[in-house]
Amino acid sequence: MYCAKCNRKLKDKKSIDRGYGPVCWSKKLEEDAEFERNQVTIDEVMEGEGNARD
Ligand SMILES: [Zn+2]
Repeated sequence: MYCAKCNRKLKDKKSIDRGYGPVCWSKKLEEDAEFERNQVTIDEVMEGEGNARD
């Protein structure tokens, strides 16, 4: 089993269950949070453009 992000071999069971090493896992969680923030922003922008066009 290797880390899905950096392809390093995973040693502990926790990391193997997650599919990520501890460092990459915390980075992934940060990226997911960032992605959700961006999603909200994009929705708000699109909504604004729709109103402007009408
Ligand atoms: Zn990794």
